[in-house]
Amino acid sequence: MHTHIVPPDVVRGRRRYSQADLWFGRLYRNERRVLASADDLRRSMRRAGLAASVAFGFAWRDPGLCRANNDYVLDAVAASNDDGGQVIPFCVVPPGDLDFAAAEMERCRARGAVGVGELFPQGQGWNLNDRSAVRSFMDTVRSLGLILTVHTSEPVGHTYPGKDSTTPDAIWSVIEAAEGEVPIILAHWGGGLAFYELMPEVHQQAHNVYYDSSASHLLYRPEIYRVMSQLAPGRILFGSDYPLIRQRRAIRLTRQAGLSSNELQALLGGNARRLGLTGVSRQEPI
Ligand SMILES: [Zn+2]
Repeated sequence: MHTHIVPPDVVRGRRRYSQADLWFGRLYRNERRVLASADDLRRSMRRAGLAASVAFGFAWRDPGLCRANNDYVLDAVAASNDDGGQVIPFCVVPPGDLDFAAAEMERCRARGAVGVGELFPQGQGWNLNDRSAVRSFMDTVRSLGLILTVHTSEPVGHTYPGKDSTTPDAIWSVIEAAEGEVPIILAHWGGGLAFYELMPEVHQQAHNVYYDSSASHLLYRPEIYRVMSQLAPGRILFGSDYPLIRQRRAIRLTRQAGLSSNELQALLGGNARRLGLTGVSRQEPI
């Protein structure tokens, strides 16, 4: 579900881009943090035996950088989707910039994007308390028939470079605005929101909320896979956050987490297929 690819120019010029975007700098100024191109992703998918990967750029704050990264993702998908695995494109937009975001999502959708994200509310300056702006953005996402994915963080626990203020209570305005009609994928297991789905009214509003497992190895004990399979059955999606972790390793850790074979199958493709992520049905990923 969750991979990031950036143009080779960003890989080569990370120092320049680190100055252009505060949060990109926080995450990638350190040369040891890997950045990946589309070719890197395809190689990784072959190694991991993956049939499909959802790919998006970095959630830049600047509209022009979002657009350039979107073009790179969409061009890479258009160039070849036959040699093995399929890359499923999402697009990134600064969600607070409503006019640009609407036009860019429409443009990317026409070129094949099936979703928007991974959005990064704090990094992109998206005010989740501005309910009318959040609603306008979500209305556009809904009218375009896109899936939304958002970076989320835990309200407690250790700090790390990507930890931001998008905790379960903060993201709730987005879920409310979607009125159950936009599939929303919360990254990194949703920062713990699934626990509150034990409250019936929360579950009722969150029935179209999905959770991806990206970066799980840095955040949780392996028991999280079984717990999440219980809290949100049918709504958990395998994600790696590649190139943060090699896809092959992420799959290996997932397989070792003690899920039943049905749960594993759902996590590694079945739920994504039901969500309508195209391409996943071509080949069983496990
Ligand atoms: Zn993330």
